[in-house]
Amino acid sequence: MASRFSGALQLTDLDDFINPSQECIKPVQFEKVVTSTGSKIKIESDGYFEVDGNSTQRLKKVEITLSDCLACSGCITSAESVLVASQSHEEMLRVFNENKTCDADDKKLIVISFSVQPILSLAGFCGLTPQVTMSKLAGYFKSLGADLILDMQIADDLALLESQKEFVERYKSQKENPNNKRIPMLASSCPGWVCYAEKTHGSFILPYISTTKSPQQIMGTLVKQHLSTLKNIASNKIYHVTVMPCYDKKLEASREDFYSEIYDCRDVDCVITAIELEQMLVSQNTTLDTFDSVAIDWPWSLDEVAESDEIKIKGHLGSGSGGYADHLFQYAAKELYGIENAELNYKSLRNPDLKEAELSIDGQVVLRFAIANGFKNIQNLVRKLKRGQCSYDYVEVMACPSGCLNGGAQIRPQKGETPKELVTQLENAYEKLDKVLPSSNKSVNMIYRDWLDGKDSDKSTALLHTEYHEIQKNDIPLNIKW
Ligand code: SF4
Repeated sequence: MASRFSGALQLTDLDDFINPSQECIKPVQFEKVVTSTGSKIKIESDGYFEVDGNSTQRLKKVEITLSDCLACSGCITSAESVLVASQSHEEMLRVFNENKTCDADDKKLIVISFSVQPILSLAGFCGLTPQVTMSKLAGYFKSLGADLILDMQIADDLALLESQKEFVERYKSQKENPNNKRIPMLASSCPGWVCYAEKTHGSFILPYISTTKSPQQIMGTLVKQHLSTLKNIASNKIYHVTVMPCYDKKLEASREDFYSEIYDCRDVDCVITAIELEQMLVSQNTTLDTFDSVAIDWPWSLDEVAESDEIKIKGHLGSGSGGYADHLFQYAAKELYGIENAELNYKSLRNPDLKEAELSIDGQVVLRFAIANGFKNIQNLVRKLKRGQCSYDYVEVMACPSGCLNGGAQIRPQKGETPKELVTQLENAYEKLDKVLPSSNKSVNMIYRDWLDGKDSDKSTALLHTEYHEIQKNDIPLNIKW
């Protein structure tokens, strides 16, 4: 099976794509029990047993979770077999079905959040418009037992607004003290890139990565901490599924940073991708157009959106990966240099996946932004940064060539279509969507005002930002590659 992880993730641990490898330290970790005689391990055909005098005890099978994988520098970031246990559509359907038959006290509120890229992928595959695809997909999830279907645009907007603010703060701080190491700011919404940076470049690169959470994880916080209050339900009684363009997002949802001990739950319980939705429809021998069209729910601010209004699928100015570079460039030009609607004229550099835009005042470049997609460009960027030759102020870094529209778990090209043609088709479809300006989203402003205690509050920082961790290579003999 072809990999659905981004290239950056596969290249860090390419030697073990299917199963935990010998490098995995989990199976050799066990609790030591002190006995007078010392126990022995007996291997039978049906398992391993610990024999201590007259007592024989079956040893528990080691369970490896995604959190183990992410905290380890070994093998399994790329083990699909581990993902299947917690992050598959089979697991999601199991929860849906259990919810139909369980006692009222055990019932969960099932919430689904849609991101734009997989909707466009499914729209192309089904031959439907993006808007119809979104409402048919909502109908499909409701037929399976979902309670609320949400559009992730609200989280996209919050991520952009927080990133804009963060960039300007970093820029000013670096100007005040060039030793601050805060520029270039590198985008953080791609977990493929973040995971690669943590595992291969650790403490050197992490200070440059934006602390703003990705839209998926902002949506998770909104659903588990804000929506739960609006609906008067415990956070761990919500089962939150996101629909995303890549498997890397499953790893992101599984990070320890996004598990709350207070609420005893993850912000995102399951990530489903376009390709898995295609598989689900095929296995049920059905097509999306056979389902009812259902309007997207909008629980954040019913004052702002009349219940009869249909939520329209929208995009953002700039790239199909969220438009980070464009939004931050225009915001910074205005905040730092008083220039409204600064024009971005991208120059393609060595390849179409690396392009840059500059803002000049009186012939002097004052801002230099770039978009770097794909593993090769990321490697070059990191190399330049290490040599002190990186002249960018901000880089939108995405692990997939062409960014999120070309995510590893988007539906594959059909009937003789080339991957390039498919990406161009998705880019054109994204281009045609109505665009939103995050700062004019009234619901976002309401969330800042009523829930986050204002835009610059400690609560905003605590809930909308995260941390990264250097992951050390385990120095054990099994790590030696012969
Ligand atoms: Fe996922 Fe987008 Fe990153 Fe690709 S570029 S790994 S689709 S977040």
